[in-house]
Amino acid sequence: MKNLMKILVLNSGSSSIKYQLFDMLEQTVLAAGSVEQIGEEGSHLSHSLNTGQPGMRKTVRALPIADHRQGFQLITSTLRETGVLADPGELSGIGHRVVHGGEKFKEPARVTPAVLAAIRGLIPLAPLHNPANLLGMEVAMENAPAVPQVAVFDTAFHQSLPPHAYRYAIPKNLYEAHQVRRFGFHGTSHRYVAKKAAEFLNKPLTSLRLISLHLGNGASAAAIRQGRCIDTSMGLTPLEGLIMGTRCGDLDPAIIFYLERETGLAPGEIETILNKESGLKGICGVNDMRGVGELAADGNPEAQLAISMYCYRIRKYIGAYHAVLGGLDGLIFTGGIGENAAFIREGCCEGLAHLGLELDKGKNLAPRQGEAALESKAGRVGILVIPTNEELEIAEQTVACLREVKG
Ligand code: ADP
Repeated sequence: MKNLMKILVLNSGSSSIKYQLFDMLEQTVLAAGSVEQIGEEGSHLSHSLNTGQPGMRKTVRALPIADHRQGFQLITSTLRETGVLADPGELSGIGHRVVHGGEKFKEPARVTPAVLAAIRGLIPLAPLHNPANLLGMEVAMENAPAVPQVAVFDTAFHQSLPPHAYRYAIPKNLYEAHQVRRFGFHGTSHRYVAKKAAEFLNKPLTSLRLISLHLGNGASAAAIRQGRCIDTSMGLTPLEGLIMGTRCGDLDPAIIFYLERETGLAPGEIETILNKESGLKGICGVNDMRGVGELAADGNPEAQLAISMYCYRIRKYIGAYHAVLGGLDGLIFTGGIGENAAFIREGCCEGLAHLGLELDKGKNLAPRQGEAALESKAGRVGILVIPTNEELEIAEQTVACLREVKG
C-alpha cells in the first residue's frame, strides 16, 4: 500500500472553508488557512505557509469568492502556487469535519453516496452545520474525484454513552421516532486531548478516569473512562450544559414556554436568544472571555458574576462526573479559554481539594508552551492543560479509516 502522506482537512461552514494540509509522514502542517465570507462583500483568503522557519508566513488576499466551489478551487490553487501541493490528485485523502453523525456514525466513514445521503438525513438534527459540511464534501469530491474522502463526526466519540446517560426522561416514542437523545459534540477534541493526556502522564489511556473540559466559544465537558466517553454535557444540540460565549447551557425547559406566554416571542426568536444572546454575553454584554476578564479586573460586577457563574457550572459538572467515574485521575483543560485563561482554571478548581484537585497557583500563572501539569504537590489528581488539535485528530482518523478500508 502506498504511504498515506498528504492529507487535507476541511471544515466547511455556511460562509467559510477552513483548511489544513498535513504531511503525515513528517507529522507537520504544510499550510493552513481559510476562505471566509463566501458569497458576501469582503470575501477573502487567509493562507499561512510553513516555511521551515519558526512561525508561519501569513498572507491575506481580498477577492470575490462567489460560492464554495470557487472557495475550494482557490484553496487548491493557493496550495499549488505556494509550492506545497502540485495538484489535488497528489492528496492521499481529504478529511472532512462533520458536526452531526447521529446514531449511525460511531466511527469516521469513507464518503460514498450512501454516506452523503445518511448525513443529509441528519440535517434536522443539525440544520445549520450539516448542510454546509455536505456542501464542502460535494465540492471536494467534484474537484478531486480520485482522492478518497473521509467524514469525521463531532458526535462519534460520544456514541459510547450508555442509555442511562444519553436518554432524556420524556416519552420514549420521542426518542424512537425523532431521535431525541443526548448526542454531545466536540468529540474530536475530547478524544484527542484524552489520548494526549495519557501520553503526557505516561500511562495507558485504558487505565485512566478523565474529565475533559473543552472551553472555547462553545464549551463542553466529557467524562472519559478507559478511553471511552461515558457522559458529556452537550445534548441533542450544543445548547445544553456549560455556560458558553453566547449560549445559555443548562436551563429549566419551562422557561421557554414561560417566555413565549409572557413576551409573545415566537419559538424561533427564543431559540435565537438562547443560542446567540445568552451565556457570557447575556450576563455581562461581552461574549469573549478575554474581554470578560478585563472588565472583571476593572471591577465590573456583571463580568465578575459571569465568571462566577461560568466556573460554578463547571465545578458542578466536575462533581457529577467525579461521581459517575468513581474517582478521577486527571482533569484536562483545553480550548481557547481552557488553554489560556488562568483565572478560569483557578475558578474551576476552587474548593475541590476534597476531590484531590489542588491547583499550584504559580504553575497555573506561569507562561506555558504546549502541555503542562498544574496540580500542586499535595494534589492527588492531575490538573492538565492539553492544547487541542482537532485538525490533526481528523487527519489521523482519516489515515486510520483509509488504512482500514484498504485492509
Ligand atoms: P472556538 O470555540 O471558536 O474554536 P477558541 O477555542 O479559540 O474558540 O476559544 C475562544 C475563546 O478563548 C474566547 O472566549 C477567547 O476570549 C478565549 N481566549 C483566548 N485567549 C485567551 C486569553 N489569553 N485569556 C482569556 N481568554 C482567552
